[in-house]
Amino acid sequence: MLKKLQNEIANLKDEAIYLQTEMTKRPALDPKSGGQGEKEKADFLLAYLRKIGISDITEIKIKDPNAPCGYRPNIAAKISGKNSQKTLWVVSHMDIVPPGDLSLWQTDPYEVIINGDILTGRGVEDNQHGLTVSLLAANAIQKLSIQPTMNFALLFVADEETGNTFGIHALLEEKPELFKKDDLFLVPDHGEATSDKIEIAEKGQLWLKITINGKQSHASTPDEGINSLRAAAAFILKVDELHTIFDRKNDLFSPPTSTFAPTRKEENVPNINTIPGKDVFYIDCRILPGYTLSEVENAVKEMANHIENEYQVKISVETVQSEQPAPVTSQENEIITRLQKAIADVYAVKAKPIGIGGGTVAAALRKKGFSVAVWATLLGNAHQANEKTSLKNMLRDAEVIARLVCTPE
Ligand SMILES: [Zn+2]
Repeated sequence: MLKKLQNEIANLKDEAIYLQTEMTKRPALDPKSGGQGEKEKADFLLAYLRKIGISDITEIKIKDPNAPCGYRPNIAAKISGKNSQKTLWVVSHMDIVPPGDLSLWQTDPYEVIINGDILTGRGVEDNQHGLTVSLLAANAIQKLSIQPTMNFALLFVADEETGNTFGIHALLEEKPELFKKDDLFLVPDHGEATSDKIEIAEKGQLWLKITINGKQSHASTPDEGINSLRAAAAFILKVDELHTIFDRKNDLFSPPTSTFAPTRKEENVPNINTIPGKDVFYIDCRILPGYTLSEVENAVKEMANHIENEYQVKISVETVQSEQPAPVTSQENEIITRLQKAIADVYAVKAKPIGIGGGTVAAALRKKGFSVAVWATLLGNAHQANEKTSLKNMLRDAEVIARLVCTPE
């Protein structure tokens, strides 16, 4: 049976090109920034799921007044397995990020270009690679009328790139009955070109906005003002002390520590001969599991007090975005061991569990107690111009997923 699946999937190259081409034509961009949302892409995917004979399909519409249609679509589609009590979910997101600077693109971002094994277009890697491979696996299983070992479910979510409010977070809050305690999850939204790393842990994320208020004055009489830039500079250098306060290490991650980086700095005065009275900068914090974000926020506020006293300024610390560190998925969990076996069978490599500093929908699921593996074979150019993915990798990743759900327990 596995051999048959392998042969079937190897013949789905044109299907992979078709799926990627049709999805890329339907850009699913954030309505808050003037995009259309995921509706058009979701409607295409619903039609495709029906076409390959899947009947158990649920569309979950989450209200969003900013979306032209008034909602953000999420899709759950299921093929029932021998063990009906357990489901393997493959979770991919339908939304994309904008193409960015068009002059950096060699071709139209919304048209798939095929060059040998490589497809180029916005979204082909992030996350249409994941959408495509789960659909190819489902397609082959349906064509061969195979009953998987456990239920095989595809979950297509909205709003991953801009905070998950209308996607996985809404599903977990409003539709918790979708998922059962022992369900297994694969998120094909991060991975190496070498196929040999499985992400089992993610750092928490905290983005802080620091506003420093001093007093503006003429630059020839600096003592009549309070220079907010001097205080900001002192604060920016002080941020490094966070590495000493939060100094735990976890070798799953690279780098193995939490990171605290001052990043963006807003413009203050437009001219050179004024002492600035207001400065704003931002800190990007990636926090290891085991710490809470409020511990970090408190430490930053304490630093702010220190700078206020030393430089006679007023400082506010605001949270722009936060995601608590999620629990780590155990290396012994069935999703990891099954996936390692399937990867070894298809790619002949031993995949090693790792942690990453970025975030995927896995964090939200892990916080609800689910075990989640994040894995795919990706060239690693998500969000960049001339985004690419490999056809060969898509077919082999589809085979990994098919083996994951069809290998006997
Ligand atoms: Zn993604």
